[in-house]
Amino acid sequence: MLRRRLLAAALSAAAIIGAGMPAAANAQADPAQCTPDLQYDSNIPSWDQYYGDGHNPAAKLPFGTGGTGRVEGKNQSAVVLEYFDAVMAAVNTGAGTASGQPSPTVRMKKYPLGRSVLNRELAFYVLSTPDNVANLDEGRQDGPFWAGVRAGTISEAEGLAAVRNRPALAWVTATPHGNEPAAAEAIVRQLYELVTRKDCANQRRLKNLDLFLMPVRNPDGRDNDQRTSAWAFDHNRDFGTRQQSENRSFIPQMNKYPGLFFIDAHQQSSGYFFPPNEDPVHHELSDFTLDTIQNTIGPALQQKFNDQSGQYQNYNSYDMFTPEYGDSVPSLIMGAAGMTYEKGVSEAYGKQAYDHYLAIDETINVVSDQKVRLLTKWVEQWQEAIDQGAACNLQPNKLVSPLHDVITQQPSHPVCGYFFRADEHSGDVAKLIKELLEVGVHVYKLDSAVNATGVREFGKPATTKTLPAGTFWIPMAQSQKHWIQAVLGEDPFIAFPYFYDVVTWSYPLQRGLAGSGFLVENLPVGVTTTEITAPALGTTPAPDAAVYAFDTDSMAGLGLVVDLLDRGATVYRSGSAFTAAGRSFATGAALVDGATVRTAGIDLAALSAARETPIAGLASYPVARYLIAKPKIGLFTGGTTVPSNPLQPGTGTGQCTSTSFCEALFTLTQKDKLPASAIVPITTTQLAAGELVTGQYTAFINPGSTIAAGTGASALQAFVNGGGRYVGSNAGGVTSARNAGITQLNTVNLSPTITTPGTEYSAEYTTASPVGWGFDRGGFIYRDASSNPVFDPATVGTGTVVAAYGTRAFGYQVNSLGAGKLDGRPAVVEQRLGSGRATLLGFNPFFRAWKDQDERLVLNAVLAPSGDPIAPAAVRTPDPAKGQTSATAESAPPAAESLAKAELPKVASRPVVASTTTQKDVRITVRRSELGKLRTAVKRAKLSKALRSKVRWATTKKQATFIAKNARLSDDHDRNYWTSRVMGQLKSLKVKPLQAQL
Ligand SMILES: [Zn+2]
Repeated sequence: MLRRRLLAAALSAAAIIGAGMPAAANAQADPAQCTPDLQYDSNIPSWDQYYGDGHNPAAKLPFGTGGTGRVEGKNQSAVVLEYFDAVMAAVNTGAGTASGQPSPTVRMKKYPLGRSVLNRELAFYVLSTPDNVANLDEGRQDGPFWAGVRAGTISEAEGLAAVRNRPALAWVTATPHGNEPAAAEAIVRQLYELVTRKDCANQRRLKNLDLFLMPVRNPDGRDNDQRTSAWAFDHNRDFGTRQQSENRSFIPQMNKYPGLFFIDAHQQSSGYFFPPNEDPVHHELSDFTLDTIQNTIGPALQQKFNDQSGQYQNYNSYDMFTPEYGDSVPSLIMGAAGMTYEKGVSEAYGKQAYDHYLAIDETINVVSDQKVRLLTKWVEQWQEAIDQGAACNLQPNKLVSPLHDVITQQPSHPVCGYFFRADEHSGDVAKLIKELLEVGVHVYKLDSAVNATGVREFGKPATTKTLPAGTFWIPMAQSQKHWIQAVLGEDPFIAFPYFYDVVTWSYPLQRGLAGSGFLVENLPVGVTTTEITAPALGTTPAPDAAVYAFDTDSMAGLGLVVDLLDRGATVYRSGSAFTAAGRSFATGAALVDGATVRTAGIDLAALSAARETPIAGLASYPVARYLIAKPKIGLFTGGTTVPSNPLQPGTGTGQCTSTSFCEALFTLTQKDKLPASAIVPITTTQLAAGELVTGQYTAFINPGSTIAAGTGASALQAFVNGGGRYVGSNAGGVTSARNAGITQLNTVNLSPTITTPGTEYSAEYTTASPVGWGFDRGGFIYRDASSNPVFDPATVGTGTVVAAYGTRAFGYQVNSLGAGKLDGRPAVVEQRLGSGRATLLGFNPFFRAWKDQDERLVLNAVLAPSGDPIAPAAVRTPDPAKGQTSATAESAPPAAESLAKAELPKVASRPVVASTTTQKDVRITVRRSELGKLRTAVKRAKLSKALRSKVRWATTKKQATFIAKNARLSDDHDRNYWTSRVMGQLKSLKVKPLQAQL
């Protein structure tokens, strides 16, 4: 009955009007011309009026029509934006209205953000009073003013003086997950209410707030009913790293228009979730953010839904911990109350939209009503951040949910600032610096060399060290201190052992920026620095040098190698580190034949600038060198077809549905900008047909699929034996090489089972293998999942261990450290066969396109030389009569010959030891004595029949664990829905789980 009543309400304009009834008048004066009661400006066309003439048959009529689920009631993104444009024209100019007059009370402005990957429009709109909109970018410049407060260029005093006079900014956005569409219609409804309501309450909120509305953040996924971006990336795991173009164009808008709140609207199976939130939350979130969410907006939403007897749920068990989401990222970057709202899809579409509308509308109400108080606190948080940074203080962990009362760890050291060497990993450092600049972080360069104390290079203890002139310096004494620490910190210091997504993500560690680090003491007094607006590490080398040299200790440097090979230059790499032109070069440094650069007409300065990689001109080759072949890379699809993707749509829409394939294709072609022509999909059919050999591929990348013993594995063996380079990751990649007789490397299962859900480890690298070139300063190992392979060192055989785990984890893990655990185990192994080689990676190097460090390993493997080193003095003696180029004449015979057929190992099925990981299971562990209560909690949580069939129990002397087998495979929002019930019941039984994998 209740449900039917609300369903009807959703489709009735009258009821929606009722939901938006003006709150009690507040102290502020009402704007002129407003009405005390609810009246609508009939001049503005409603959705049904606008689309009623049938000019766009794609529009669903009447508005809010459609049954349950995610698809039936959904309007395509372009239909939603067309209505936004029509309303904007109506209010701004009167176009399309009966009166032909602009709105007396509202203006809108559109901000285009370009197009999505599959060419759909991206835009957001701002909506407020005519005065506010006119003074957002011009006039009073409210946008630049609040941006200046956030950036620390406008003082706290000036900011506080403006909290009554200027409107605050606020964001309402939706659909990072494309198959969670209904909030777009909710924002359409909100738009209509905001522009047509003439009552004083509505006018007050327009006077108080500039509302930024973005109904569709992932139009490709939304229109294709897919959760992910066209490239199969989760937009809600990419908001911090912003690899996806839709996020990349959007995030910098946060600097320009920092808001008091940021709504990120999602959907789940049923019910409705909105804050208050559950722990853990990241320790650097400001008090303003947490207090506003938990104590102002959350309770207001509860009240609103109580009033309407609406169903809702709080304290869902996902987190504000990882800076990758639409709540945590806006919270940290713009100091907003960043919030996730999740409406279930189990009710009629109109009700889905209605509940989202109700929550959005009430959020606007409560924030508008308390604007002066909230804006004051919002302003104060920036000086607070600066003060914390100046004192080198990290914020302590805090708890936001009543379900918790114990914090198990706190940030354990001060941080005064981060430093990044400009002369190591240059291009990758530059990329990180640019990303920080894009969100308003202030970055400086040391004017001269500084002898500093309390220097902690990443992964190392504090020491005294000289930081060279030109080193990038990011002091913590700045307003963006929270974001800086959240993404650059080694360890996020999770407050207690409950996790949901990854538990570490440190950008410098994932990008292999060993040698850089942070200071736990302030820079010595008197040190001078210069603020920069761009890293500008590219150089213009002498036009007539015999040899050009640059480092390849960055993904950007390796990209530059491919750029040059692709343009016809002859490129070598050094097997040893050396010093030349007054600087040191790491192993694997590129040495380019200057004559070939000039012959090909290559603009070295432009390439150097694009890759932010300095190039030096040399008079001769300083060390022995290896010839590098121009790569032609086969990328394994793992099936008989090429998955539809933005580069090769085939018969599909271009919306990719194979995550592992598209993650690799995206990382190599879009992120690392390798020429798409050099990366060719290879299907199982093509592999079996021997196309790697006949197509003259130099390398074959298998992002984790298993090539069964048979023609495919035989073809792989022939390819490697003949000089090909195979790169295989995870269990499938290793099993494939085993089946092909290339390696004996195998995995083991550790007991007890290890938990490494995105855990970073210290590591030992060798530069003796070309796969480890450029890792002279070391590196790290990131286990993106608990199920990543654990290699058995006894099975390495004649292989070379390129990277092995160290003894330290940065952040949360269980049972993975100590003797016989991961310590010292190989994670990257190179194995030669005949004249080729295989590189086997015990993790996914393309995970979320996060790991430039691992992309370097892949590129090193792809670009590994096959010939002997050439002595520095080798004379170029090409014989054109024999078709020799300068390169081939210099090339010595291959270091290893292919094996004769009789010598080749047998192709046979040799799967690695199956992993007994528990990462796909939801697991909640309590004290053994509390098993009874745990069972009671699960019973009271009323799990579905399907879920109940997955439940297992495991007990030891001290502990009892609830297990829902394979339940972590499902949509994460749905999982929250029931895990939260279990956790909530445990709380009411006063049980604190020892650990939870939710
Ligand atoms: Zn979602």
